[in-house]
Amino acid sequence: MTHSIALLGSTGSIGRQTLEVARELGLSVAVLTARSQVDLMERQVREFCPRLAVMMDPDAAAELRLRLSDTDTQVLSGAEGLLAAATAHEADTVVTAVVGSVGLAPTLAAIRQKKRIALANKETLVCAGELVMSEARRCGAEIIPVDSEHSAIFQSLQGCRDMEQVRRLLLTCSGGPFFGKSRAELNEVRPEDALRHPNWSMGAKITIDSATLMNKGLEIIEAMRLYCLPVEQVDAVIHRQSIVHSLVEYRDGAMIAQLGTPDMKLPIRYAFTFPDRAPSPAPPLDLITCGALTFEKPDEDAFPCLKIARQCGKTGGTACAIMNAANEEAVMAFLRREIGFNDISRRVEHALSRVAVKYAPTLEDILEADRLARAAVKDQ
Ligand code: NAD
Ligand code: MG
Repeated sequence: MTHSIALLGSTGSIGRQTLEVARELGLSVAVLTARSQVDLMERQVREFCPRLAVMMDPDAAAELRLRLSDTDTQVLSGAEGLLAAATAHEADTVVTAVVGSVGLAPTLAAIRQKKRIALANKETLVCAGELVMSEARRCGAEIIPVDSEHSAIFQSLQGCRDMEQVRRLLLTCSGGPFFGKSRAELNEVRPEDALRHPNWSMGAKITIDSATLMNKGLEIIEAMRLYCLPVEQVDAVIHRQSIVHSLVEYRDGAMIAQLGTPDMKLPIRYAFTFPDRAPSPAPPLDLITCGALTFEKPDEDAFPCLKIARQCGKTGGTACAIMNAANEEAVMAFLRREIGFNDISRRVEHALSRVAVKYAPTLEDILEADRLARAAVKDQ
């Protein structure tokens, strides 16, 4: 059970919902971090009184320090600030709710301090999953997924003592706002269309990833790393209602799933209370009124990111780090309206064709792959 948290990315979608759960469970908040949103950070600090607040952006940190001069909260900035946040001695649990591979170094630092990791930042496991998981095993740090699909799998695996009993993991996927569109129709879609997700309200990057289905691709790799399974044992299925959050298929054919209304506060709460559960103020799912639950095959021709991710999961080495970094850059370019929707997958494929994969990579190899992939996308 968590008592005190360090929350990396407190101003984001997961960060704000984490603070709602912290309020509800009466957790102490030792650290808050964000990139540049000073107003919201100031309000959060005044409510939760953390010992440390970190702004990635140095100007934002200077502004926050000025505004908080009447409080006891220390303000730091930049990558060193983020590392100090991840290793703060008061926190037993670090919530990684930053977006992108910037989460890698702080996650590793927190693992080395044997913190419980409530992991939302999937890009970290995608770019360096084998390294992160082996460090967690070596240091005895628990990694509890916050991503709803992986939390559902984690919950459905309780009582399973041996992964040999699992035939496959089945990740559900809402299909995003462009479900049913052809590749040609997708040429025309704009950022504002993509930012309208049917079931979940999330940060901009993951919302675009959900529209391209790269989010499901990233999640396939995240599941492979969390549960040490080959890509052939992780599948995705379209489930438009986002009620079944994912399933485990056991070798005797039993399928165990977790169901609920789409609400990230459930997996966040569970990451704090595991192995117990706490009462939730939200009304439970009503099976009588929730309507029919449907399942179908994803269209990998219209949404090639799923295929690309599966191939990178199979290739291993730095392939997933290259794919992830290229995708981060391509999504940002799409949000800035510099490229079209279908160019996102093209840019990722381009980076994968330009940057050589290294096998059994060190952390330096992964960081180098990340840098080269970003450069390859920008050069195109
Ligand atoms: P968001 O964009 O809403 O928030 C991101 C947070 O990270 C903000 O606090 C921002 O200030 C901070 N941040 C951004 N860039 C940073 C940088 N370079 N350095 C330091 N801090 C930075 O994102 P989100 O939707 O909350 O997602 C956070 C993570 O959780 C992502 O990895 C996402 O894939 C994952 N996730 C989100 C959801 C969801 O429902 N939002 C669900 C599952 C997984
Ligand atoms: Mg998810």
